[in-house]
Amino acid sequence: MGRIKAEYIWIDGHKPTAKLRSKTKIIDGPVKTVNDLPIWGFDGSSTMQAEGSDSDCELMPVYFTPDPIRGGDNLLVMCEVNNADGTPHVSNTRAQLRKVAEKYKDEESWFGIEQEYTFFQGRNPLGWPEGGYPAPQGPFYCGVGADEVYGREIVEEHMEACMKAGLMLSGINAEVMPGQWEFQVGPLGPLDVADELWLARWLLYRIGEDYGVNATLHPKPVKGDWNGAGAHTNFSTKSMREDGGIKVIIAACEKLQKAHKRHMGVYGAHNEERLTGLHETCSIHEFRYAVSDRGASIRIPMATDKAGKGYLEDRRPSANMDPYQVCTAIVATVCGNSDSVVEDETEMVSETVS
Ligand code: ADP
Ligand code: MN
Ligand code: MN
Ligand code: MN
Repeated sequence: MGRIKAEYIWIDGHKPTAKLRSKTKIIDGPVKTVNDLPIWGFDGSSTMQAEGSDSDCELMPVYFTPDPIRGGDNLLVMCEVNNADGTPHVSNTRAQLRKVAEKYKDEESWFGIEQEYTFFQGRNPLGWPEGGYPAPQGPFYCGVGADEVYGREIVEEHMEACMKAGLMLSGINAEVMPGQWEFQVGPLGPLDVADELWLARWLLYRIGEDYGVNATLHPKPVKGDWNGAGAHTNFSTKSMREDGGIKVIIAACEKLQKAHKRHMGVYGAHNEERLTGLHETCSIHEFRYAVSDRGASIRIPMATDKAGKGYLEDRRPSANMDPYQVCTAIVATVCGNSDSVVEDETEMVSETVS
């Protein structure tokens, strides 16, 4: 096979919210396993990952999919960032999740993440009148019609691209605020869900380029009486999914309650603007879990309560969260105990890298 384009994608060192970066490497195909993809490098001084005097960072391919935009045998390649000596860079939050996922693999954790986002064209959310506001919220959630939804052609193209890449999307919907949408990834294991979410975000931004529209993950893109954007994180372990699992789910909620502050440290920057207690959220200063309650920190879905087994929905993570950090925190808290959590998260950056 001939030469192919491999888009190497990584997460930078921008604070408080990390950004995606990518560049293309032309390589000889075919690529059968991740080991066929060469290690590469980049200028870390341009991505807030190094000083100019010692600027080389390493890109280590860890996951790849077909590239649905370029087509053919071309690839998207998710990478971890390493220091020049091959050790994980401080911004490399995936390395931590790798360890925690391996440690608790017998629990068979599954995640389903609901990624909300808002389209912007120039300074306005897509479809909003220049410098003004649309009608109040109400008709837009799961709406249909040119006066209610904006950007569906981009959403459809993105969904198609994710499916062509083989990402495990579970659905999409228009959100409460006009111009705001959601896609869901999962259920998948911790590393897979996080890798796929980052790739799905990259595809969203990339496809938006073709329309002159950008997607923001800011948790409160418009101040006032407009819904914010979250990344509800649905979670289960094997024992939660088995008969009597509801007991395990309640025990998990109790552990998450004790760890509330620690989790909020990695659930996304500016999340306090969104978690106000209004607009289907619980205040950032409180923690409540309840069946079916969209004003709780953690919702136990009605079907889970009825069946006595299933999963929980952590409603706290914001749209701009780093799924490597959120999955690390949840697995460490729920599957570990108070001593092991400290150990599991020693290298966890307390400043949000998302
Ligand atoms: P909501 O009703 O909150 O809008 P969604 O349907 O948008 O929920 O998203 C629910 C997510 O939970 C989906 O990604 C789905 O795949 C995932 N999910 C379903 N069952 C489980 C489970 N047992 N463990 C973890 N995630 C799950
Ligand atoms: Mn949803
Ligand atoms: Mn939603
Ligand atoms: Mn939800």
